[in-house]
Amino acid sequence: MEQVIAHILAELKKVENPPDDSSLEVVLRVGALAVHSEAATRTAYEVLVKGTPLAQSRLNLTIELVTLTCASCGYQGPLPQGAVDPHDQSPLVECPRCGAVTPVQGGRGVEGIELRWE
Ligand SMILES: [Zn+2]
Repeated sequence: MEQVIAHILAELKKVENPPDDSSLEVVLRVGALAVHSEAATRTAYEVLVKGTPLAQSRLNLTIELVTLTCASCGYQGPLPQGAVDPHDQSPLVECPRCGAVTPVQGGRGVEGIELRWE
């Protein structure tokens, strides 16, 4: 999360006429395995932006669900939150359709950062 804030602050510095921070909106999309929970991510954001030009900004947060693709039966679908331990480096889950153990892909990184203002 620190890296995300650093990135946004660097982007903000490039803006010629920086807007008032209360009109700033940070649009952030992160993978479900990259964060503990939405609430924890919002709390971390609020702590990290204190005293920065982003202090009054709004966080528009989207958690991207991890998708399971089963090699055995071709099932594709989002995984419910908590189905995978985020600390597990190569998590495996059982396919909800055929029960085959399938590696989980994606969901780890920051998938999009965007700075908006009015
Ligand atoms: Zn399957």
